[in-house]
Amino acid sequence: MTKRPTIGCLALQGCVERHRPHIEAAFADFTPVKTVKEFEAVDAFILPGGESTTMLKLIERFELWDALKEQFARKPVWGICAGSILMAEHVENPEQKSFGIMPYTAIRNGYGRQLESEIIDIDGYDVSFIRAPVLTKPADDLEILNTRDGEPTWIRNGKNMVTTFHPELTFTFPSPMHAMFVNIVKEHLKNNAA
Ligand code: GLN
Repeated sequence: MTKRPTIGCLALQGCVERHRPHIEAAFADFTPVKTVKEFEAVDAFILPGGESTTMLKLIERFELWDALKEQFARKPVWGICAGSILMAEHVENPEQKSFGIMPYTAIRNGYGRQLESEIIDIDGYDVSFIRAPVLTKPADDLEILNTRDGEPTWIRNGKNMVTTFHPELTFTFPSPMHAMFVNIVKEHLKNNAA
């Protein structure tokens, strides 16, 4: 039996607490994290939606970059919107630093002004796009779970997942994306058990 996983949500800026009921409904524990000690104690990470530039500034100000990079190499990570920008190989519009753990280029605010925010139904579940990035040039071996205008919006790559939309703002728990991520984490714990 694998243990009940604990999912840590990086809580420097952005939409954090809305994930709690989804994660708990998927039979995992949820905790906001912002120190190296807290990073070490969790089984997986959510990088929440918010403003990627602000998150980057806070990561650098609190000198968390190296610790996060090391944690991301070993544990499952789900980046949401701004989080998907932080995980990208490259970032454009404008260029900015990223962890390079997902092989695509993120174009910030890539859907333009008209379509910058809207609610869309994915497999019967409402999700919110809020000034979302467009993810381009995905590597061939990525598992693309949803697209919008031909570009991926939900991707799995082994232990890592990204969504350019926010599923946590819909009040039916858990969202299919939270349920999938908790399963990825449980699988990862099982495969990496001592
Ligand atoms: N536009 C934001 C950014 O570039 C992302 C928006 C979001 O996370 N909802 O960081």
